Amino acid sequence: MKVCQKIQSGRLKPSLKTHRDHVQHVNAIVEQKQQVKENVCQKCGKPMILRTVRSGSNQGNEFWGCSGYASCRSIRPIA
Ligand SMILES: [Zn+2]
Repeated sequence: MKVCQKIQSGRLKPSLKTHRDHVQHVNAIVEQKQQVKENVCQKCGKPMILRTVRSGSNQGNEFWGCSGYASCRSIRPIA
């Protein structure tokens, strides 16, 4: 009987941890989706994606650029 209980409690702990990790993972995805939803291009409605300045005096700076770049060159500075 004691052995049986030990096995059960040993099983419960990892599944609880896994569940918590899963919830955190889902929350992270939900947050990402909300962030994307708020960052839509005001010109074409496509999601804005985080880009980095590749050259020039602002090299290394990050900004929001339209994911439809090339056909749409809308950008937004990070607030
Ligand atoms: Zn756009």
